Amino acid sequence: MTPIYLDHNATTPVAPAVLDAMLPCLRERFGNPSSLHVAGQQARHTLERAREQVAALVRAAPRDIVFTSGGTEADNLAILGTLAATPARRHIVTTTVEHAAVRSCCQRLEKDGYPVSWTPVDRLGRLDLDAFAAALRPDTALASVMWANNETGVIFPIAELAEICAARRVPLHVDAVQAVGKLPIDLHAVPVTLLSLSAHKFHGPKGAGALVVRKGARLRSQAVGGHQERDIRPGTENIAGIVGLGAAAELAQMLTPTDDARIASLRDRLEQGILSRFPTARVNGDAARRVANTTNVSFEALNSEAILIALSEAGICASAGSACSSGAIEPSHVLVAMGVEERYARGMVRFSVSRFTTADEIDTALDVLPGIVERLMQLAPAGGAGD
Ligand code: PLP
Repeated sequence: MTPIYLDHNATTPVAPAVLDAMLPCLRERFGNPSSLHVAGQQARHTLERAREQVAALVRAAPRDIVFTSGGTEADNLAILGTLAATPARRHIVTTTVEHAAVRSCCQRLEKDGYPVSWTPVDRLGRLDLDAFAAALRPDTALASVMWANNETGVIFPIAELAEICAARRVPLHVDAVQAVGKLPIDLHAVPVTLLSLSAHKFHGPKGAGALVVRKGARLRSQAVGGHQERDIRPGTENIAGIVGLGAAAELAQMLTPTDDARIASLRDRLEQGILSRFPTARVNGDAARRVANTTNVSFEALNSEAILIALSEAGICASAGSACSSGAIEPSHVLVAMGVEERYARGMVRFSVSRFTTADEIDTALDVLPGIVERLMQLAPAGGAGD
């Protein structure tokens, strides 16, 4: 049985055209782009073509694209690299709902004595812009804010944040891992300093991503070695992965508003189907400002993990907050930051669709869910979350 995959914010399948573009790099076109001979020069050409494709997707200059091993490395490089380049400034501004790639990095820095301001969000997951602006200080090295939230899909107003930062001369790093390929991004219009993206979130391969480093950004590499990627990210390039990233970027650029509307209509069909079947279910996050593919639903007094296991047994893949070391699912820090009550936070399930999702898949999920929820409701003590 092929699973019904409704977890595209975790990762996406590689698109056929992306795989086709990658395979020659793993077979006959295996050269090292730093080699001067013809095989090396072929690889160099392929690398530079991918750089152009990625730059075109976010409307940046090809020179600004620094390839990395994915979103986590790009986020870490942005934060740690900026702090290293501007040692006189030690303060960081971020938000309470970031992905672990930013959140854990800032938590570690905080432990090491760097002051960090965590900008709060409201009940709908919207950023408090006044609190953000008030947090910026003369010694702020960097603000790091996500474009779209991986759990709720809520979109932050990056253009406004970029203006606030530019006026205060604070570099802005944007974790756009969940936005690239889902939202139009035009860096000509939005003056962000650094932007992270990751291929596997938009039908490219895992282990390939980029940090967009705009002109004027001050960044110190976090690895020492060769001179690849303008010395910012040394190491022999993952050519097949980068070519896959480029091909995925080109595919994403071809997405039309009609494709977006179809993705949103599948998400809405699922969401409405759930809300109409379960009066105690509710959606977390600002429904008016979120990416088209994501819905985050809480089933009151149920346990996410139990729902996910039952869904998985029925061949349906979805997800919830991050798993803690004991394997049990902790209430998501994003929902906690939004002030969602524990009996709802503990019963959260995130469904995320893609252009490859079908209406039949949504309907099968909607057929299966009532049985699962009813069974778990009978098991759950009234008002308890099963913990
Ligand atoms: N940032 C966000 C918002 C993400 O959703 C993810 C992945 O889930 C990452 C960063 C990390 O990206 P990668 O898996 O490429 O390291």
